[in-house]
Amino acid sequence: MKFNTKTIHAGLEPDPSTGAIMTPIFQTSTYVQAAPGDHKGYEYARTQNPTRNALQNNLAALENAKHGLCFSSGMGAIDTLVKTLVPGDEVVSTNDLYGGTYRIYTKVFEKYGIKFTFIPMNDMALVTKSITSKTKMIWVETPTNPMLNIIDIKALAQIAKQHKIMLAVDNTFASPYLQNPIDLGADLVMHSVTKYLGGHSDVVMGALMTNDDALAEQLAFLQNACGAVPGPQDCFLVLRGIKTLHVRMQRHCENGERIANYLVNHPKVDRVYWPGFASHPNHDVAKSQMRGFGGMMSFVLKGNNYDDALKVLSQTHLFSLAESLGGVESLIGHPASMTHASIPKEEREKSGVVDALIRLSVGIEDVDDLIEDLENAFAKI
Ligand SMILES: *Cc1c(COP(=O)(O)O)cnc(C)c1O
Repeated sequence: MKFNTKTIHAGLEPDPSTGAIMTPIFQTSTYVQAAPGDHKGYEYARTQNPTRNALQNNLAALENAKHGLCFSSGMGAIDTLVKTLVPGDEVVSTNDLYGGTYRIYTKVFEKYGIKFTFIPMNDMALVTKSITSKTKMIWVETPTNPMLNIIDIKALAQIAKQHKIMLAVDNTFASPYLQNPIDLGADLVMHSVTKYLGGHSDVVMGALMTNDDALAEQLAFLQNACGAVPGPQDCFLVLRGIKTLHVRMQRHCENGERIANYLVNHPKVDRVYWPGFASHPNHDVAKSQMRGFGGMMSFVLKGNNYDDALKVLSQTHLFSLAESLGGVESLIGHPASMTHASIPKEEREKSGVVDALIRLSVGIEDVDDLIEDLENAFAKI
């Protein structure tokens, strides 16, 4: 089945009791048993829920994985994954990553004796050098947030295999429409389903996908044991959102390309970070591992002036000033004070997240209106 059919059909069956074509919302906490142990495979809804199962099967199919598990948030998914490690274990992570991931690693899990090393992952020799006998996992985001760096998943997978450690990829920015890390050799894919998969800015959810049976079993155990499960209503909303993932992503990519080119040619813009430019330092890797370049981009105004950036951030109307990304509506954000505020300034600036950096999540509105909105904001500085 091709991707654009999977979004609508994969893992989904009409409801056996009624024929309802849409997966029902099984809003229940428990299931009646005829006699102790005599049930239809469902005992308690933290462990199993039919609406959630349908979504998990669909999510697995989108990443060409055997197993999919969903969680009450992207952070809930990451939390569950890291709980497969034990004190003393080490993780080599990219240094250009989602602020919340950095926060859970350094503020939560370091306390439990897990060690994290943050490095730029455009340098494979440095990745190899950072692996010790205690390293159990490589964690990577690509494209990275908010600098839109591209990291070579295949090259990392080779290193991970050599050292017999897990390669986990946060695929939130690309979405499965643009990139499938498991096909490139990754062991596990994580999504903040909140973003492109949900796509309508109305649900917070996370997911993990893998082909590894033993890992999936361990994660399913933790999903039930720790309990960060999403409710059936949210699972339904995400199933509904995914049905248009391919159509939305196509438009995100088209609008993204138009706006990236508009920005790069604008006299008030200094630099634009977008992997679709031939001048992007890892454009060739992006071309080889992604099927398009998406609608996420960041830019810095000429003069790198914080006050000018603040003016632009508060003068757009169609681009709403908000955290998050991947919804149908366009958003504008300020990583230094918003999504990346939990990373110390010194750390942030090492990876390019300066105070004047502006991030866009280009939505699927008419692109001419979006450009006019930016043009009006630029006119104020
Ligand atoms: C939003 C996000 C997360 C966290 O997901 P939540 O659903 O907000 O908990 C993790 N990684 C990336 C890249 C994100 O954008």
